[in-house]
Amino acid sequence: MKSLAVLGSTGSIGTQTLDIVRENPEKLKVKLLAASKVSQKLLNQIREFKPEYVYLARKEEIKGVKILSGEEGLQEIASLDIDLFINGIAGIAGIKPTYLLLKNSKKLATANKEAIICLGEVLKEKYSEIFPIDSEHSAIFQSLQAGKKEDIKRVILTASGGPFWDRKNLEDVTVEEALKHPRWKMGKKVTVDSATLMNKGLEIIEAHYLFDIPYKKIDAVIHPQSIVHGFVEFKDGSVISQLSCPDMRIPISYAISYPERWKTGVKRLNLFEIGKLEFFKPDEERFPLLRLAKECGEKGGFYPAVLTVADEIAVEMFLKGYIKFTEIPQIVERILEKADFKKPENYEDVIFIIEETKKIFKNLYKTAGGKIA
Ligand code: MN
Repeated sequence: MKSLAVLGSTGSIGTQTLDIVRENPEKLKVKLLAASKVSQKLLNQIREFKPEYVYLARKEEIKGVKILSGEEGLQEIASLDIDLFINGIAGIAGIKPTYLLLKNSKKLATANKEAIICLGEVLKEKYSEIFPIDSEHSAIFQSLQAGKKEDIKRVILTASGGPFWDRKNLEDVTVEEALKHPRWKMGKKVTVDSATLMNKGLEIIEAHYLFDIPYKKIDAVIHPQSIVHGFVEFKDGSVISQLSCPDMRIPISYAISYPERWKTGVKRLNLFEIGKLEFFKPDEERFPLLRLAKECGEKGGFYPAVLTVADEIAVEMFLKGYIKFTEIPQIVERILEKADFKKPENYEDVIFIIEETKKIFKNLYKTAGGKIA
């Protein structure tokens, strides 16, 4: 029996993690559920999985459960004796838990790319122990089982391309259209990031840190069918990859069951139904965030963290209807232009950069008279 902590339990990754627990009740036991606040969904999860602990960002009482909350609660979580911590928290809110868990050498499976990118070099020596849940990184992790790290020639991340990769006019994209991902069922932030291709840019940086691979050996290709999730090319010319129906339950399950493979309930791959697999070069002119992310990754230092925060702000503005889809990269670029910090060397440096980046945005917003771009 493996005990699990599910951070972000009511989100997309959290609920799909609990699907895996339902598929494998004899193998998994949920010991902790963590969410930002009490909701009907969380109460249902507590009733069904009967965790020993529940963490809430804001303190609230729930009858019959031990509640952890706030800063103190986070510290307590990171000291609990639990076999595997699943981090399904969306965005930069996932940084602190990631940091505390890694620092305490807890086993961590994470879908929170923002934390890996922002913490960057700070906890680098711990990254090789992380089980990636991001589907492309899970595919790379799985493909790497076929060879040695030193024999890698190239790593290729696939991108569905989101809903717009072949659409001419991006000026009039609506929030509703951006949230309609053609292949994957995911949270809002990552769905918009998929549509701007920023998601792939962030994943290149994530792959660089997780697998300690230089940027020049990491590529991204558009693969609209989303069946191949990543490739590893080795020096003998062999290219190993992982294929499956696009369903997050597979990478989540593998992160939990590694090195075993368990039932996921995911539909089997039908090659005749798929018929063909296509690959295209991403257009960095029309999707400047992909290029920008690569540049920030190469520059290192404070750049990856500023990029991540700037994007999170811009996506939020878009989702609220304040800016156009095409203004997302403009805002990110403006914030990057104003940013100048020393290279982060510890957690406090990272948090400082995040807070200062938010201030840069606020100042830009003010000087623009309340109008952004
Ligand atoms: Mn991904």
